[in-house]
Amino acid sequence: LQHKVEHQQALNVVGQMACSIAHEIRNPLTSLKGFTELLKLNADEESSMYLSVIDSELQRMEQILSELLVLSKPTSMKVELLELDNIVKQVIEFMLPDALMKNIMIQYISASTQVYIGGNENRLKQVFMNLIKNAMESMKSGGTITVEINVIDCASVELMIKDEGVGMDSATLQNLFQPFYTTKSTGTGLGLAFVKKVIEEHEGVIGVNSELQKGTCFHLQFPIYTFNQMDTMDVSAKDSAYLV
Ligand code: ADP
Ligand code: MG
Repeated sequence: LQHKVEHQQALNVVGQMACSIAHEIRNPLTSLKGFTELLKLNADEESSMYLSVIDSELQRMEQILSELLVLSKPTSMKVELLELDNIVKQVIEFMLPDALMKNIMIQYISASTQVYIGGNENRLKQVFMNLIKNAMESMKSGGTITVEINVIDCASVELMIKDEGVGMDSATLQNLFQPFYTTKSTGTGLGLAFVKKVIEEHEGVIGVNSELQKGTCFHLQFPIYTFNQMDTMDVSAKDSAYLV
C-alpha cells in the first residue's frame, strides 16, 4: 500500500509540473504566433513557405500543450447540446485534404435520425481528430477509413472509426491508453490518453478491436440527451433540438 501511495504522489508531482510548464510555454508561444502573423505581411514567396511551416509547427506545439493540460489536472469545460452528426462531418471535412494526399478515402455513414449529445465541442472535435489521425497513420499505403454513427436505442448512440491499417499487437492493445505510450518514432503517446479522459468526462465509453495487418476499429458510445436533460443545461439551441 505504501508503495502505491508513493507512486500516486509521484504521479501528482509530475502532473503538477507538466501543468505549470505547459502554462509557462503557452505565453511565449502566443507571442511567437503573433509575430509570425506580422512577418507574413511583408514576406516574399520563399519566406512565406518557411513561415507556413513555422505556423503548423507552432500549432502542433499548442495542441500537445492543450492535451497535456487536460491530462494533468481536472479541468472544467463548457458543455453544450451538440448534434453529433454535424460535429463529425466538420472534423472529416477538415481532415479530408490531408487524407486524399495520402491516398486515403474517408467514408462516412451518418445516423438515420438527428442525435444530440451533451458535451464540449472543441474537446470532442479533438477526440475525433486524434482517432482519425491515428487511423491515417496506420495506413501507410492508403485505403479506406469508415466513420459510422448508429443510434443504439433511445438512450445511447455509437460512433465507429474503422481503418484498414497495420493493426495492433497485444502489448499495444494493453497500453494504448497510457499517457506517453507510443510505437511511433515521432509520436507523443498523448492522443489516446486524451481521448479516453475526454470521453469519460462525457459519460461515454470507448472500446477497440484490432487485428494485425487487417485493421483497427474504435467504438465510442455516448448518452443521448433529451429535452429534460437540456433544461438543466445552459443551452440556447433548445428550439432546434428534438426528442429522439
Ligand atoms: P501516438 O499517435 O502519438 O503514438 P496515441 O496515444 O495516439 O499516440 O496512440 C498510442 C499508440 O496506439 C500508437 O503509437 C499506436 O501504436 C497505437 N494505435 C493507436 N491507434 C491506432 C490505429 N488506428 N491503428 C494501429 N495502431 C494504433
Ligand atoms: Mg496519435
